[in-house]
Amino acid sequence: MPEAMVLRIAHLYAHFLNIYGDRGNILALSRRTQWRGIAVEVDPIGLGQAIDSERYDLYFIGGGQDKQQQIIAADLARHATSLRKAVSEGAVILSICGGYQLLGHYYKPHEGDELRGISLMDTHTVAGQRRMIGNVVVRRPNGSTLVGFENHSGKTFLGSAVEPLGKIVSGNGNNGDDGCEGAVAGGVYGTYLHGSLLPKNPALADELITLALRRRNSGVSLAPLDDAIESSAHKRALALPA
Ligand code: GLN
Repeated sequence: MPEAMVLRIAHLYAHFLNIYGDRGNILALSRRTQWRGIAVEVDPIGLGQAIDSERYDLYFIGGGQDKQQQIIAADLARHATSLRKAVSEGAVILSICGGYQLLGHYYKPHEGDELRGISLMDTHTVAGQRRMIGNVVVRRPNGSTLVGFENHSGKTFLGSAVEPLGKIVSGNGNNGDDGCEGAVAGGVYGTYLHGSLLPKNPALADELITLALRRRNSGVSLAPLDDAIESSAHKRALALPA
């Protein structure tokens, strides 16, 4: 009898980086997994805690103000090696806004020193002169759309070793200049989309769950869910003004 599947999620700095309700992504990931009859374990990982890179299949890091980022940046750096190892073994990371910025090479805020990132993605971020705030619509390479809400002054620029999550349809995205939003490098996903992101973007939630489960269960696929409510929310968000 094969061992029952379990999805183990590490919620990094759950109490620090939870701006604009980003913990809603943990709820969406958990429920959509449980609705398929698969057990889920979620562990909040706080400052100073160790991370067992063998244990977790999916890591989540949310957004935060500059001051929260300044508090956690040095602590996150301690985990760079174990997170890199986990990703190389098939683990998935979803990062939102402030968390996304710190997965790149650095974030230079308006005030204070440059914050070193952990370079899991070939990106860098510099605080811009204006805050980019509003509803966002993104078109992914497969033609599907993502909807969310942005609120950041950081302008993120992609290097050659990373692809954008998609192209901006409305809103600013990574920097308000290059028409791109987010970044993907293997199993590492970053985006400025708060909302929270996943409840109104069920296909992306299932993409992340599937990738994470496949770390230990090759070839696994998820049964479809009745996403009538999620799709209705997505459609309504598509019509919101940027
Ligand atoms: N402090 C960062 C910025 O302003 C990230 C903000 C956020 O996480 N919403 O760009």
